[in-house]
Amino acid sequence: MLFHQLFDPESSTYTYLLADEDTREAVLIDPVREQVERDLAALAERALTLVHVLETHVHADHVTGAALLRARTGARTVVSRHGGAPCADTLVDDGDVIHFGAQALEVRTTPGHTDGCVTYVTADHRMAFTGDALLIRSCGRTDFQQGNARTLFRSVHRKIFTLPDDCLIYPAHDYQGRTRTTVGEEKAHNPRLGGGKTEAEFADIMEHLDLAYPRQIHVAVPANSRCGRTDGGEESAR
Ligand code: FE
Repeated sequence: MLFHQLFDPESSTYTYLLADEDTREAVLIDPVREQVERDLAALAERALTLVHVLETHVHADHVTGAALLRARTGARTVVSRHGGAPCADTLVDDGDVIHFGAQALEVRTTPGHTDGCVTYVTADHRMAFTGDALLIRSCGRTDFQQGNARTLFRSVHRKIFTLPDDCLIYPAHDYQGRTRTTVGEEKAHNPRLGGGKTEAEFADIMEHLDLAYPRQIHVAVPANSRCGRTDGGEESAR
């Protein structure tokens, strides 16, 4: 399988390009609107056909590139059935599988940061794309967008920490230049969720984070709820 990790410095978002080497069918996970030309060039350079655009959730910090990529390539947009973006071509739920060539990604629902968070896991369980459910030594916030710390704790422990310890974790963001981690490392060293922290301890940590709101939230959430379309409607959705 071809694999490339791409980065948007403005929102510190990782976009992932995965493709079947034989059929040249590709998927993009969490593309950013401002980086669509970069992503199209990455596909063209490798002679890949984009078949699916996958969202790990409805993002609050950037507008998805899904609508533009769909318009330019005909790829199908994929989001959780519980994600609040019914405009997507494919609404996925726990256990669903997304195919591209001979490759497959398994959908695991991992709510808690938002209701519609999902983790995409390769068929061999060697790589997991966790969105904001599990970040490197951190996790997504739980104080807006239906966030719930106890739900997130259960999602991470039941759906991600049950993967093999050497399974590579690729998150939606990192703000310190780190690119990946593993299930085993986060089980041992994640200061919020690892090292035997209980659900109650985690809920207490999350309650006292005191974070500022993302700069783009008033644009990003309404636009992403329409699968990245920004042609009117933002005002009425505020
Ligand atoms: Fe998020």
